[in-house]
Amino acid sequence: MSRAEAAAPSVERANWTEVTPETLYAKLTTVARNLWWSWHPEVVSLFRDLDPVRWRQLDHNPIALLSEMTPQQVADRANEMVLYTRINQAHRRLKDYLSNTTHTWGARHAGVLGAKPVAYFSAEFGIHECVPIYSGGLGVLSGDHIKSASALGVPLVAIGLFYDQGYFRQHLDGDGYQQEEYVDTRVENLPMEPAVGKDGEPITVTIDTRDGKLLAKVWLMRVGRINLYLLDCDVEGNSPQDRQLTSRLYGGDRRTRIRQEMVLGVGGVKALKALAIDAGVYHLNEGHSAFAPLEVIREVMEHDGLSFDDALREVAQKTTFTTHTPVPAGHDRFEADLIEEHLGPLRDSLGISHDQLMGLGRVEPQNEQETFCMTVIGLKLSRKANAVSSLHGQVSRRMWAHLWPWRVEEEVPIGHITNGVHVASWLAQPMRQLYDKILPADWGYRQGEDEAWQNIYNVDPGELWETHNALKSRLLEFVRRRMSRQCRRRNEDESRIEAARNVLDPSALTIGFARRFATYKRADLFLRQLDAIAELINDVNRPVQFIFSGKAHPADEGGKSFIKRIANLRNDPKFAGRIVFLEDYDINVARHLVQGVDVWLNNPRRPLEASGTSGMKAVLNGGLNCSILDGWWAEAYNGQNGFAIGNGTQHVDDNITDARDAEDLFNVLRDEVIPLYYDRDTDGLPHKWIEFMIDSIVTLAARFSAHRMVIDYVRHSYVPAAGGLSSDMAAR
Ligand SMILES: *Cc1c(COP(=O)(O)O)cnc(C)c1O
Repeated sequence: MSRAEAAAPSVERANWTEVTPETLYAKLTTVARNLWWSWHPEVVSLFRDLDPVRWRQLDHNPIALLSEMTPQQVADRANEMVLYTRINQAHRRLKDYLSNTTHTWGARHAGVLGAKPVAYFSAEFGIHECVPIYSGGLGVLSGDHIKSASALGVPLVAIGLFYDQGYFRQHLDGDGYQQEEYVDTRVENLPMEPAVGKDGEPITVTIDTRDGKLLAKVWLMRVGRINLYLLDCDVEGNSPQDRQLTSRLYGGDRRTRIRQEMVLGVGGVKALKALAIDAGVYHLNEGHSAFAPLEVIREVMEHDGLSFDDALREVAQKTTFTTHTPVPAGHDRFEADLIEEHLGPLRDSLGISHDQLMGLGRVEPQNEQETFCMTVIGLKLSRKANAVSSLHGQVSRRMWAHLWPWRVEEEVPIGHITNGVHVASWLAQPMRQLYDKILPADWGYRQGEDEAWQNIYNVDPGELWETHNALKSRLLEFVRRRMSRQCRRRNEDESRIEAARNVLDPSALTIGFARRFATYKRADLFLRQLDAIAELINDVNRPVQFIFSGKAHPADEGGKSFIKRIANLRNDPKFAGRIVFLEDYDINVARHLVQGVDVWLNNPRRPLEASGTSGMKAVLNGGLNCSILDGWWAEAYNGQNGFAIGNGTQHVDDNITDARDAEDLFNVLRDEVIPLYYDRDTDGLPHKWIEFMIDSIVTLAARFSAHRMVIDYVRHSYVPAAGGLSSDMAAR
């Protein structure tokens, strides 16, 4: 027996003899079946210790790992690695967490939601790399939202789609051109089960269209205390084509898209009904789910005998809408015939004409030239609407001002709640241990409060620097392993593989850039200053290096050409080993990058980045942001918590804006970032840089945490929508 086990409480020792391989295995399975494990590093390492090699090969999926082992093998391994106590602790902690629903922030501040929870709709959820039902920032935000809602005890259920092929896996061919591969997800390896109704039978919902019925089954996935319900069209009774309707995220044509959105919105509301969940608030996270209120209106009309107009008023009162992008392509639009085909039967039940329905999706209801826009109906059917940063709020009010022509721009009813990130999911374990030593014991729970982070000023600068550098080494190891694997996959010769094994210099200033390769994010901006950047990179005394990663949408040739140009820099001796492109950006790659880089770069074309969240993840780990003053950074930057590219202006001519921004990017690197990083004191530490790191953490970690974000939604959106007193009003 290990020392830890000897010290374990007597209850556990009394049970000691009863621990069989089967009970041990059952406990691990219980833990693996709630995604709670994914943001607890000590539980993650427990699974990893069962078989480190398979763990990596299986995308860090504990259910897949356990399915390859017998209970006896698990017990043998647990003996060998002394895991018994850790397994028991993980199991008990999960049980305690799930049973504590009364001593939470939500129980105190969101009581009105207790009996009638929030129904949170989103087309994607990014929770962990082994659950591939997300493509990028929107999904990760939804995942972080429900994780923080779980921690805070906010009564909420989430509704999404189950994509059995998810988003594509990315590889580059020998020319650096993006190849897309779709991989079937094995349902039995995911932590989900059929959702059942009151009668104990699995739920199937039916959606009527003019063209026949569309069926969807419903899965239940547990994310801490939150139930996430996922609709899936791969059911008997659907046509072969419809069985594949929800296979892929953002694939297919307009018809596929509207059918997916019918399933999410209308099907989602029907699923809630079948589950006997009486939602008090409907949160539409982006326009994809904006058909949902129509089905709720139908239910209210049927149940309470209200007219369409009265029901609409009642439903809009309970509906809150979040818009996520000012980029036109980000707003789904549908032609009238697609709307009639799919919403015709529902429109009949609502007793409204085709023109009336189309009017709900148009800025000018009578304008027959206008297509049906999901953002417009989202705004019209919700009483509360918000953008996702302060600047995005201004941009959105201007963008949609013509919906309220009688109001001045400042009074357009779109507010803002700035995005945030779930700290436990993005914070590296060694940094967390450092915080545990100096921050208050309950800092994790209070991560959304500025006061919880103040003691960071007491950190020993040397220790912070050492911790950061250990994480940076870990990142470089990861990059080298991945790069050599990429070369092997392309059957490149041994010299190239060897070179890939040695890319990057651990002592060089390391800049990371990773996100979707949407063209407005301008991953290619630095290419406009390539010769000047080459000089910075090759400075013998103060070298700089870059790590890039990100997927382009399969239909986005512009984004793919950015990838190709960046990836092919490895063929130029000036950049080989100093600029790398990592394939297949996902949550795992993101986690490594934001935890290990010195600088996180973001240079979107202002004001198109609604918020951006990856930079917030870097903050938590001591990385410094260097960014255009757009999205969250426009409200975050204070002159000493990171770096600004330019001064927050843009020209009407994109070419001029891009040229200027590229120059400003080069200038800030040359004049501010590099000198500060390489300015070392006699003890070898860059004290001024470390002061920036501390300032970044203390001014930004709480404000841009998902806990703060969820608390804002509860106070300003959910509680008022549920008919409670908004805290704004309470404060008056
Ligand atoms: C955080 C994250 C994003 C969002 O990054 P942005 O900078 O906001 O574009 C996208 N993809 C993954 C995998 C992420 O983890």
